[in-house]
Amino acid sequence: MPRFVDRLAIVEARIAAACVRAGRSRHDVTLLAVTKFFPVEALEDAYAAGVREFGENYVQEFEAKAPRARALEDARFHLIGPLQSNKSRKAGELFDVIQTVDTAKLARRLNELGRPLDVFLEVKLSEEESKHGCPPEAVADLAHVVRGLENLRLRGLMTMPPWDENAERSRPYFRRLRALAAALDLAELSMGMSHDLEVAIEEGSTLVRVGTALFGDRHKA
Ligand SMILES: *Cc1c(COP(=O)(O)O)cnc(C)c1O
Repeated sequence: MPRFVDRLAIVEARIAAACVRAGRSRHDVTLLAVTKFFPVEALEDAYAAGVREFGENYVQEFEAKAPRARALEDARFHLIGPLQSNKSRKAGELFDVIQTVDTAKLARRLNELGRPLDVFLEVKLSEEESKHGCPPEAVADLAHVVRGLENLRLRGLMTMPPWDENAERSRPYFRRLRALAAALDLAELSMGMSHDLEVAIEEGSTLVRVGTALFGDRHKA
């Protein structure tokens, strides 16, 4: 099995090449290492190799890793999976960034925790039943609510297109997210995963969420 540093070098080269093609600076794109279903040792390996931003999908799973993960100085942890209101308190304690805010109710709950949190609004751009997120026509209202909450700092928008091995199929979704963010004057775009990060960077992504290409295939516990 390839070592983490070798996988990271390949991902870094892909990001760098996409930035060159898009005429963008490498510094404008953050690599978020997605560690769901991997043990805390995977986070520690990635940290040792220089990764500082991490994404987890499940509050409970990250809670178990948190004592060791939190010891990684200046690492930041993003929740990228759907968040139910009843888990918002725990999520607000464990994570620095919540990328999946999709209702005003959830935003208010997070605000009530009294701890500053960076947030993204997750936008549902596909018709798939299984996808979470705020409908695009409701994003402006939600952004307005979040901007009025003193503990939340609205950073940008996040989306997940329907999975398709052909990365070009993601492009219209990324383009649409970028237009929505521009209309709301939001700087950050969380879009692009292992298979479509190049297309996402070409369409303006500022944060790519990469799991498989860094850690290999996930095996559900
Ligand atoms: C799992 C996950 C990723 C990473 O996907 P890969 O294809 O393994 O890179 C990115 N974003 C979200 C929201 C995820 O759930």
